Amino acid sequence: LTVLGLETSCDETAASVVRLTPDGQATVLSSVIHSQIEDHAAYGGVVPEIAARSHVEMIAGVTRRAMTEADVGYAGLDGVAATAGPGLVGGVMVGLSFGKAVALARGLPLVAVNHLEGHAVSARLGARVAYPFLLLLVSGGHCQLLDVRGIGDMSRLGTTIDDAAGEAFDKIAKAMGLGYPGGPALERLAATGDGARFDLPRALLGRKDCDFSFSGLKTAASRLAQTCQTDQDRADLADAVQTAIARQLSDRSERAMIAYAEAAPPDDRQRLLVVAGGVAANRTVRSTLEATAARHGFGFLAPPMAYCTDNAAMIALAGAERLQRGMTSDIDTAARPRWPLDEARALADPVHP
Ligand code: ATP
Ligand code: MG
Ligand code: FE
Repeated sequence: LTVLGLETSCDETAASVVRLTPDGQATVLSSVIHSQIEDHAAYGGVVPEIAARSHVEMIAGVTRRAMTEADVGYAGLDGVAATAGPGLVGGVMVGLSFGKAVALARGLPLVAVNHLEGHAVSARLGARVAYPFLLLLVSGGHCQLLDVRGIGDMSRLGTTIDDAAGEAFDKIAKAMGLGYPGGPALERLAATGDGARFDLPRALLGRKDCDFSFSGLKTAASRLAQTCQTDQDRADLADAVQTAIARQLSDRSERAMIAYAEAAPPDDRQRLLVVAGGVAANRTVRSTLEATAARHGFGFLAPPMAYCTDNAAMIALAGAERLQRGMTSDIDTAARPRWPLDEARALADPVHP
């Protein structure tokens, strides 16, 4: 199956063509991403109206490039997948409407994809990964642990009670004057720091549920940022923040691994921890999680770096997996600004299961 994917839920206009074999081997034929970071930089965050207008300007050109690079022609496509939510609804509507137009014009089935489901399958873009697995989804807007049984069949084990992990990185980085988005900048700064001298709050550590909280860390780190005098101070603080976030992600994943392993006989369920979303690009987060997974007898996998932050290849792949199972969407499918992953099945399920 060969699918064109479109992603416009936040500040990336992206299009990609992905091929999926029946045995689950994915090949990215093209992946084009236009980032709007420069359009929003002056405002210190994403401005929804600017984002929507930029998607309108960029979507046709980005799609054309993805189709040219993939070199399969519209006749070589089996379907069109577009993010239908969650996200900034003005942007989502641009990609979804464009996808509907392509589907209608070319007589192709439309697959409305949950953006989070795209992140959930993104590790499959780099390696063949069987279901089920345990997923830590850490992005700009979400921080969740999920039991992933298959496409459209995921349930949440825990979520953040305040900020998402990426949001914590971004807000602390902003308080430190690092600009937007802050995660990558904070990671670069942390490389030359040693955070041992800072004692940051350790929220929820050891608690038996799988929830997250970053607001205490955010407040403490933002206050400490005001006391930093030298570049070394700031690098040390960046390292302390990164370590604290990685530690919490790893501690909560530990809880989830225990619950996941206890929920069914081990031979029944693959012991694999997968991390996805923008924060999965962080090397300290990756290595901390990998070590924790190993201690619990779990394998560990992260997506290729290029597919951690928003992209359309993950949307095309989720669309292809749905198409493989006959799950297509009505042409009048609406954009959904809020769309919990547990409900991904409800919207895009086939009329004939
Ligand atoms: P959502 O998927 O929840 O709708 P989003 O699409 O905006 O949110 P992503 O594109 O998956 O989120 O990820 C962006 C986030 O990842 C930002 O918060 C960014 O700071 C963070 N991030 C990206 N790279 C890194 C890194 N190397 N270290 C830490 N955080 C990072
Ligand atoms: Mg983005
Ligand atoms: Fe995302």
